[in-house]
Amino acid sequence: MADFDLIGKTASEIRKLIGDKQVSAREVAVSYLEHTKRNDKETNAFLCLTEELALKQADAVDKKVASGEELPAFAGVPVCLKDNICVPGYPTTCGSKILEGFVPPYQATAADKLFEAGAVLIGKGNLDEFAMGSSNENTAYAKPHNPWNLSKVPGGSSGGPAVAVASGYSAVGLGSDTGGSIRLPASFCGIVGMKPTYGLVSRYGLVAYASSLDQIGPFSYSVEDCALTLATLFGKDPKDSTSIEDPFGSRMNPRKFPTLDLAFAQGLAKHDGSLKGIKVGILKELVGEGLEPEVRAATENGINVLRQLGAEIGEVSVDHIDIALPVYYIIATAEASANLSRYDGVRYGVRNKDAKDLMSMYTSSRHDGFGDEVKRRIMLGTYALSSGYYDAYYKKAQQVRRLLKESFDRAFEKYDVLVCPVSPTVAFGMGEKTDDPLTMYLGDIATVPINLAGLPGISLPAGFGREGLPVGLQLIGQQLSDAQLLTVAHAFEKATDFSSKRSPIVEARHQRV
Ligand code: GLN
Repeated sequence: MADFDLIGKTASEIRKLIGDKQVSAREVAVSYLEHTKRNDKETNAFLCLTEELALKQADAVDKKVASGEELPAFAGVPVCLKDNICVPGYPTTCGSKILEGFVPPYQATAADKLFEAGAVLIGKGNLDEFAMGSSNENTAYAKPHNPWNLSKVPGGSSGGPAVAVASGYSAVGLGSDTGGSIRLPASFCGIVGMKPTYGLVSRYGLVAYASSLDQIGPFSYSVEDCALTLATLFGKDPKDSTSIEDPFGSRMNPRKFPTLDLAFAQGLAKHDGSLKGIKVGILKELVGEGLEPEVRAATENGINVLRQLGAEIGEVSVDHIDIALPVYYIIATAEASANLSRYDGVRYGVRNKDAKDLMSMYTSSRHDGFGDEVKRRIMLGTYALSSGYYDAYYKKAQQVRRLLKESFDRAFEKYDVLVCPVSPTVAFGMGEKTDDPLTMYLGDIATVPINLAGLPGISLPAGFGREGLPVGLQLIGQQLSDAQLLTVAHAFEKATDFSSKRSPIVEARHQRV
């Protein structure tokens, strides 16, 4: 029997209820699946439900409870994975027609770790095709809607897992963030979303978009759940050579930041919430013109909260941030054009069977399988990498990327954390920007610099604007300071009550039929 009171709870709350035998993992799974089936017709968070796996995973947790075994961190917690994270036995579409029919034979390391920790997979989340987009309208399937207002976009590219958490279909989601794809939908959907330091979480089994920028990270209701997820996911993976060995240091390799392990995550709740001794820099270039009034108000309020908690506040300028957007769109499209060359009609998914020769089979399969935005980016990236233009575009962009990283390093000589908005706007209307890719790209202005520099960034619920739409605040840390960043984020969350608010779909969980 479904118990809709379970919907909207945090991962830690659910695990505790299961551990205390107040509810079984199966009851939790059934309730979440039922709530999803009743409501997702309107929100399109999922591209596929994984009911059979969910029940199997839940039963395994219940067995552990019955035998008195110690329960892992995500025991019985319903989760959603973005559909570019591979789980064998179920399709991975990447939101693209070209991967129709593709069922991966292997599992992403991030999924492995979450399942090992007892998580229950409800389904695979919608996304912009190959994670290219900011509104999730570039999916080749039914477009997801924002659960706070169904006429608005949820943000992209990881719109599916964001909507799944914000609608109460899952307590935690995993997305990928190449230029903001976790932080932006988290901000538009009123939940926590974090892109960790590049290399903290293995990318094995995550379908590549732009490999030097892609990172997997969590969506959740609370900072504590976000920390628990990262504590579960991080670590060197022999299958991903860019994953960091000993990220938080060892005796041989000491570092200055706290270790983001389970003990840290579980101890967050006990932190006194004071930010004395923490220096916060307001990122000048990103709080200037072009912000919607409610975004400006939420940012200013957020900064005041940090000040009241004892943080020392100053202003900081990061050189070259003004050109981070074109730099990102050159590097990301260049890498994408190379990564996506593997979809040729031979190895995966869709193939044009009428083609007369090999070359026309390649081109017609790609023509039929890819959507407009993906084609646009493959062309842009191929152009930037072509001989004669390589030096002028790709090489130049890489040089500016390095300068940008150095400017951030200088900012972090003075400050522990930087603060700015996530997006200049709140969630916009569906269809409002689809004909104007440039305006769409401009919405990424505050998120892409963080990926270019490999830094951790978190989006926190920080207010509500017009029509009750959520506004996010972004906190940024230096590389591998993820635990420190989470401590500051947790203090902010404790001092405000934005994170305790749930979307209308969660609020109406009992009434909907
Ligand atoms: N909106 C950005 C893009 O379209 C970021 C996407 C992402 O982070 N995957 O490239």
